[in-house]
Amino acid sequence: MSDYIVLVKQVPDVSQITDNAFDPETGTLVRARLASVINELDAQALAFANMMKKMSGDDKARIIALTMGPPMAEEVLRYSLARSADQVVLLTDRALGGADTWATANPLAHAIRKITKELLKCGDDYFVVSGMQSVDGDTAQVPAQIAEELGLPCIAYVTGAEYRKKRFEFTRIISGGSQTVATKKLPAVITVAKYEHTLFATFSRTRWANKADLVKWGADDIKATHIGAKGSKTAVIRVFPPGKSARKCQHLSDVKSLAKVIMDSVKSGNGQADQNGDAQADSYVLPDKRKDKFQRIFEATQKEQDDYQLLIEKIKELGIKSVVQIDDSVKEKILETTGNSIHKKTLDDMIEGFKATKPAFKGEVWVVAEHSGGVVHPATFELTGKARDLADSLETKVGVCIAGDNVGHMAEELIAAGADTVYAIEHKVLKQFDPTAYRKAVADAIDKYVPQIVLYAATPQGRMLAPMVSYRVHSGLTADCTGLDIRDSSRKGDIGLLLQTRPALGGNVMATIRTKNSKSQMATARPGVMKRLPPDPSRKGKVVKHQVELSEDDVSLEIIQTELGSGEVNFGADVIVSGGKGMQSRDNYDSLLGTLCEGLSNKLGTQVERGASRAAVEQGFIERVHQVGQTGTAIGPKLYIALGISGAIQHMIGVANTETIVAINSDPNAPIFKQCDYYIVGTVEDTVPQLVQALKAE
Ligand SMILES: Cc1cc2nc3c(=O)[nH]c(=O)nc-3n(C[C@H](O)[C@H](O)[C@H](O)COP(=O)(O)OP(=O)(O)OC[C@H]3O[C@@H](n4cnc5c(N)ncnc54)[C@H](O)[C@@H]3O)c2cc1C
Repeated sequence: MSDYIVLVKQVPDVSQITDNAFDPETGTLVRARLASVINELDAQALAFANMMKKMSGDDKARIIALTMGPPMAEEVLRYSLARSADQVVLLTDRALGGADTWATANPLAHAIRKITKELLKCGDDYFVVSGMQSVDGDTAQVPAQIAEELGLPCIAYVTGAEYRKKRFEFTRIISGGSQTVATKKLPAVITVAKYEHTLFATFSRTRWANKADLVKWGADDIKATHIGAKGSKTAVIRVFPPGKSARKCQHLSDVKSLAKVIMDSVKSGNGQADQNGDAQADSYVLPDKRKDKFQRIFEATQKEQDDYQLLIEKIKELGIKSVVQIDDSVKEKILETTGNSIHKKTLDDMIEGFKATKPAFKGEVWVVAEHSGGVVHPATFELTGKARDLADSLETKVGVCIAGDNVGHMAEELIAAGADTVYAIEHKVLKQFDPTAYRKAVADAIDKYVPQIVLYAATPQGRMLAPMVSYRVHSGLTADCTGLDIRDSSRKGDIGLLLQTRPALGGNVMATIRTKNSKSQMATARPGVMKRLPPDPSRKGKVVKHQVELSEDDVSLEIIQTELGSGEVNFGADVIVSGGKGMQSRDNYDSLLGTLCEGLSNKLGTQVERGASRAAVEQGFIERVHQVGQTGTAIGPKLYIALGISGAIQHMIGVANTETIVAINSDPNAPIFKQCDYYIVGTVEDTVPQLVQALKAE
């Protein structure tokens, strides 16, 4: 007889971006100029909680919606009341503003404690239900960090539920497939990845919702320990427009032209992989190794960069060779000759900064490995390559932390991929990935060895584990990075920081973030963006066995069933043709896609492999092993043809390294058209047979 606390958030409506929403000077999206709506996945979470209540047959179960935000966020609470919430709580206070995920999860968890004690009086019998992530942050970190603060199990990426033997069994997305799980104890946190049965508001309920009293709490009411910008463990350094896609995004009006570009792209390989990813920046060297002792390699706002350049010019003009020469009279001179355009405090900070030469963080650069069936996930190798690059710049070592029941045999491959030390945590309780047990094991190793950087793959597993571990070890975390670089801070002498660059607001802006008030700097990075180093079997490294005390009590979930793809697929083929939900049926997939693959293979004399979107796999058009994307396989062929695929981020992540992307879609506004090289607007039923003929004629 559980109650439900649903987390809802008001977000900018990124689906309706008007021209004036962009700042003409900076080119970035101005959030305040967008309309505000309920985060779509939170609306789905509300409907999901309502469905759970109905399934359990408990009419008395209550649903409380909770939001943290400015006073206007009450709109999403009234939305919730009008649909299914019985009561709502608005957590609002200026002191809570400017928070990162750490300082958002902390007050929300404290508010949940207060709700369960004072409003629901439900003891341990409740579920916290939220959307998987919000469209503005896209981090998926807050629910997992709330679970960590409250010491609860967390089931992420849920897509369905069944009520059996008086308990819920949840279906969730995992890397390479899906899984049915139940939580061993309550309360529990659930994040909803997809539940498309929208709730509609009735007229009478809307009238009631508009007048109903809201419970309003401020920061003092909940006694949270970390709030606002001060309690945050990350800070945004810079926001900038996303680089123009390297894709050509060229509309073709006839299949003949399409057949020609297809032939050309495979023959000449004239395409280009997406360059929005981790472009190789100039290598970072520590200040002691720099010829110019005043040189600082940093990333900052334009004003900070301008101040720094001006100061460097003045230092040169005054013939200063060492920072010790800069006394108060020199500072006065600098301020005078720059017409006081540099603020005195900024000048003091920058000069202090020149005195620092040692990195702000100490320790190794770590990767937390992901593996399944005794095989290391490709993203772990990519991250190990990146870690090698970062560690070489910082003159430190690369550690890979791998947990499981029998993982030692994977060490050799990790060392060949760039690791100096493999920290192996072996325990029978770690046989299957359980977030609670794994986060205890990994956090224990991090507490002991205190690496300065910890990287995780932004897979469902990494995006679940990283927030829990980061919260447990009191460190900041940036989600879903596409760029990781070492830089100095232009002020105050923070040397050798990990700058974490990621897309935000649905990819409409890029943000560079740094860690603060933390032992380690942590980030999850998108699979397929970082480059794996060619394996070097001659590399030497060591294996350190890390012992952790674990028992069955540390396992929070019962895994009922796992469905993973099996079978042989050659995703190393030069050409891959994928079908999406737009193929409409398995018959269409087989006949249309099959004929195109055959036609291409005959014409080009190369193997052409079949791929699919997750939605196509879920529709049963083809086996799961063919799925391309974040939870499928990341591929990098010469040519990728997407038939009836919309271009969701989770799909496109998997094709970022493709040379040429071609799309056929009946919707003239399909998002994939902005992420491909050539496209045709048309149905697959009409276009594919014509294309097959046109290829024959080529
Ligand atoms: C944690 C998580 C992980 C995920 N991992 C993956 C992943 O690895 N891979 C993946 O693909 N997705 C993944 N997804 C799902 C992803 O968000 C999208 O839901 C999915 O990619 C959509 O697949 P689709 O484009 O085939 O379907 P839809 O989004 O439904 O698009 C169908 C497209 O077909 C077009 N269409 C319809 N009829 C026709 C026609 N007759 N001719 C031509 N075009 C037509 C439509 O215009 C539309 O653009 C993941 C989601 C989550 C939450």
